[in-house]
Amino acid sequence: MSRAYNFSAGPATLPEAVLRQAQAEMLEWNGAGASIVEISHRGPEFIQVAREAEADLRTLMSIPDDYAVLFLAGGATVQQALIALNFANPGQAADYVVTGHWGKTAIKQVKPYVDARIVANGEAGGFRDIPPRGAWQLSADAAYVHYTANETIHGVEFRGIPDVDTAPLFADFSSSIAAEPLDVSRFGLIYAGAQKNLGPVGVTVVIVRRDLLERAGQPRADIFTYRSHVQGESMLNTPPTWNWYLAGLVFKWMLAEGGVTEFSRRNARKSAMLYDVIDGSGGFYRNEVAPDARSRMNVPFFLHEPALDATFLKQAAEAGLIALKGHRVLGGMRASIYNAMPEAGVQALVAFMRDFQQRNG
Ligand code: PMP
Repeated sequence: MSRAYNFSAGPATLPEAVLRQAQAEMLEWNGAGASIVEISHRGPEFIQVAREAEADLRTLMSIPDDYAVLFLAGGATVQQALIALNFANPGQAADYVVTGHWGKTAIKQVKPYVDARIVANGEAGGFRDIPPRGAWQLSADAAYVHYTANETIHGVEFRGIPDVDTAPLFADFSSSIAAEPLDVSRFGLIYAGAQKNLGPVGVTVVIVRRDLLERAGQPRADIFTYRSHVQGESMLNTPPTWNWYLAGLVFKWMLAEGGVTEFSRRNARKSAMLYDVIDGSGGFYRNEVAPDARSRMNVPFFLHEPALDATFLKQAAEAGLIALKGHRVLGGMRASIYNAMPEAGVQALVAFMRDFQQRNG
């Protein structure tokens, strides 16, 4: 068996220790006589797994008690629609800060429900920077203010939490959740698909301040209602048990490795290694994002000569470095280096990049 270093943006690499544990428990989980995916989500075995996952995530992210934590199906995109249905009156204003592709898609999902206002937009600059907070034109009557903490495609990441006092702050943390310590109490709601930093695709984490659940929102089915999901402990219907279980294993692994403080150190080192080799390449490689907005999770870069792209990707794969092709929206390359990407993987990538430049520069 040869596992490559996998730089996929998501579904993304998982910790090898977690995959090995899941493999070992595949046929029978903890004396249950069946695997965790073959038993009822309402039985004591799965309930234990679910409760531990929530407790571990609360510990990992220091989530205050006045926040509910949900494990839902549907992906981040579904949450993008549900936030409007649950927290805004029909046609009410909702403020959106757009710093890349995913901020734009978030608006697409709420168009039928709210008056989505773009209060700051990095598009004119090609999404290479974050519009300064002082230039945001927040509405006085918005139901919430939404931003994307890390833009997975454009590689643009907020440093710190923006100061917003006009409405509760909602954030898409799909590609940077649990990558560094975060003051959850500054938010009304955080959501993140698990498939980048938390585990497998199929489960989405929603962290929501409980008082917001009292908002009336818009006419909607019970299954689209966060309040009901909280009351039903994320089990209104059959939850994605396998994904929830695997995410739980990732939380335990992260805690054992030293928690988010340790991962933020590793992520800083990993991303610095990559940006250093790009910036030091004399233009052979190029990352166009403003230095203080550069993502520590997704590093898009371009070769000075696009004709070399195919060779770069082929030789990288031969060297055991896979999924480096950039998103079709941007082209070029992208290295996604989430929590589960070991430092050795990034070291191997930068060594390959230096060598490739030497042979082709
Ligand atoms: N937001 C961000 C920041 C993302 O990176 C993605 C997926 N790449 C999404 C939202 C959409 O997530 P999902 O596919 O889970 O709906």
